[in-house]
Amino acid sequence: MNLARTAVASAGHPFPAIAAIGPLRRTLFPGLAGVGNPGHVALTFDDGPHADATPELLDLLDRAGVRATFFLLGRMAEELPEVARAVVDAGHEVGVHGYEHRLLVKHGPAATCHDISRATAAIIAVTGVRPRWWRPPYGVANAAALLEARRLGLRPVLWTTWGRDWTRTCTPDSVYRSIMRKLDGGGTILLHDSDHSAAPKCWLAMLGALPAILTTCRARGLAVGPLAEHGVTEDTTIAGRAGRTAAPHW
Ligand SMILES: [Zn+2]
Repeated sequence: MNLARTAVASAGHPFPAIAAIGPLRRTLFPGLAGVGNPGHVALTFDDGPHADATPELLDLLDRAGVRATFFLLGRMAEELPEVARAVVDAGHEVGVHGYEHRLLVKHGPAATCHDISRATAAIIAVTGVRPRWWRPPYGVANAAALLEARRLGLRPVLWTTWGRDWTRTCTPDSVYRSIMRKLDGGGTILLHDSDHSAAPKCWLAMLGALPAILTTCRARGLAVGPLAEHGVTEDTTIAGRAGRTAAPHW
């Protein structure tokens, strides 16, 4: 994760930094990247719950017969407890994104740990479910965050392809094409069911793109589901073991 930290410092903005380390992450830390069963694609959504986007997404997924993993923000789960519970009631998995949507490397170890533990407690209190997964905002973490996640029994997992569905100019077609650029069996898809940290209503593009994404996965013979069914790889490369020295039992 030091790679990410360095890249962020040099780029000044988190998104290009994450894109830059993407290929390296997948090679050196496949488990962290969300690589799993080659016949399966994990479908994940960050930044929710959202009063409008999440219910619409739940309807779409219900019609498609697909379940997914939702990385919730603790603050939003507390503000919209019925929506957060609807995610669980519909059979989806919940993970921890954070309490606030903040770039963790900008904050000290104490604030970082507090954010993750507060988010986890909020999600458990609202949904009654203990999450297994943690995805830091912007995909960027520090050692304190990794250790706190481990203490809470959370495994960090990022993604292998994303829809770039947070921009003002994104469209269903742009989101679809962005996902397809790196979609393959065993990958993890990142989309957002919220405009909490993005351009207003950009989630409409995500909703517009999702049916075609699911259709393409099906056409390629790939099952789509939550991380719980993805068979996420254990990081056993030399680099992976080095990473686990800092935060074993990811
Ligand atoms: Zn996020």
